[in-house]
Amino acid sequence: MTAHVKPKALDNFQARDFRMLIDGLWTEGSGNAIERVAPGHGIVVSRYPAGTKADAERAIAAARKAFDNGPWPNMTGAERSNILLKAADLIAARADELAFLDCIESGKPISQAKGELGGAADIWRYAAALARDLHGESYNTLGQGTLGVVLREAIGVVSIITPWNFPFLIVSQKLPFALAAGCTTVVKPSELTSGSTLVLGEILIEAGVPAGVVNILTGIGPEVGAPMTTHPDVDMVSFTGSTGVGRLTMANAAQTLKKVSLELGGKNPQIVFPDANLDEFIDAAVFGAYFNAGECCNAGSRLILHKSIAADVTERIAELAKKVKVGDPLDPTTQVGAIITPQHLEKIGSYVDGATKAGASVALGGGALDLGLGQFMAPTILSGVLPEMTVAREEVFGPVLSVLTFETTEEAIRIANAIDYGLSAGVWSRDFDTCLTIGRKVRAGTVWMNTFMDGASELPFGGYRQSGLGRELGRHAVEDYTETKTLNMHMGARTGWWMPR
Ligand code: NAD
Repeated sequence: MTAHVKPKALDNFQARDFRMLIDGLWTEGSGNAIERVAPGHGIVVSRYPAGTKADAERAIAAARKAFDNGPWPNMTGAERSNILLKAADLIAARADELAFLDCIESGKPISQAKGELGGAADIWRYAAALARDLHGESYNTLGQGTLGVVLREAIGVVSIITPWNFPFLIVSQKLPFALAAGCTTVVKPSELTSGSTLVLGEILIEAGVPAGVVNILTGIGPEVGAPMTTHPDVDMVSFTGSTGVGRLTMANAAQTLKKVSLELGGKNPQIVFPDANLDEFIDAAVFGAYFNAGECCNAGSRLILHKSIAADVTERIAELAKKVKVGDPLDPTTQVGAIITPQHLEKIGSYVDGATKAGASVALGGGALDLGLGQFMAPTILSGVLPEMTVAREEVFGPVLSVLTFETTEEAIRIANAIDYGLSAGVWSRDFDTCLTIGRKVRAGTVWMNTFMDGASELPFGGYRQSGLGRELGRHAVEDYTETKTLNMHMGARTGWWMPR
């Protein structure tokens, strides 16, 4: 273990002071400041206003006015599309600055943060294309005197609430689609990683998004997020975060029957058969477990290995996991960065303790790593995990891999489905029937076959059961931010309602 050396990139670093964006104006808000301490460096890197309920009400009023009075919802699809494309270009142009903010505020490796920025710019371009193709349906088969037209209208004011683990990527899975549909928005990033979303506010103003269309609030959930889920002037809430807060969001939104879209937690199984290409799987297993330090809704945190290969495969995964470079998030060669907060590190540790007390064994890691500054956790493998153990059922949200075993395909499916989550899953086998059987029987929004955590702007993403409600990305993502209206039109003379024919 080497002593941590403050990276050169932070030598002349000054913490950045941010403001909130309400109705086109940057504002300090009415609360105090939140100081963000970098998880990988232990120094204050950002300060944001602690928004209040009053700030949320002002932002919602601005979004309401921008929706009701236009011009945004009344623009053509092409006009909105051009602005979204300009935003995508500006995101690409400022990608290094945005990636740096995500890296120091979340503790993720800088190389990974840059990759996420590339993915985010692509999503903005994809949403821009969809803005021009949003359309309804028409029916001329209802009789000579009737024409039915089904419109897709922007749903109105959308509250967008995001978590800390992929700050820029997740706001990019929501906001451009809401804007493409013609909605106006109030956005609240996590209080731990608000920086890049606030820079996005600057980008959108420069791209030509009118005042009030995107308002960005900072602050803690119960104070500034909760009013965004209850206020009668909000028409829809799009939330990504924990299942617990997701449940609360749905209950809050139910008071005024708002539409909700929820992207929540996961406890994703990877089922591995003896005929799989094990070299490829082992590489993917290590990536799937430790990418973003396991602080990932999609983490492949639950391996379900065929009994005949379990011991050998676990050993080979441990060998490779030992080589994973955990360290300074700003070092371009780092593969696993810091844990988001000291409290979260403790929570991860308590899952490992609980698992060993329940009978699991630590095959690798198991505790914190002292790198001199910030908080880090060693890549950890727990073997001998049984399906009923807490660590096999709950989201640990850290670099902890649980290894379970199976003997028959039916048993593997049963174990995979025996939890409350259903976000994603993986199957590894060279046999087509095996892959398709698992693909069809496992209850998850995405099933990867001989690959893991691949994605594309075109492919819908979301969860079954308590992993969420609705889907993001894909060609229907814009429609999620619309209402359907039927125009039932009559042509020519018509009698016979009440008057005798
Ligand atoms: P969280 O639920 O604690 O917070 C998410 C957001 O909700 C934050 O902005 C927070 O300030 C806000 N919030 C908290 N209390 C609120 C309230 N009462 N009213 C309104 N808003 C409130 O989640 P987190 O710790 O930031 O993120 C980690 C979780 O997110 C994990 O469970 C992870 O699986 C999930 N996640 C899911 C996906 C997905 O696409 N399915 C993607 C990333 C993260």
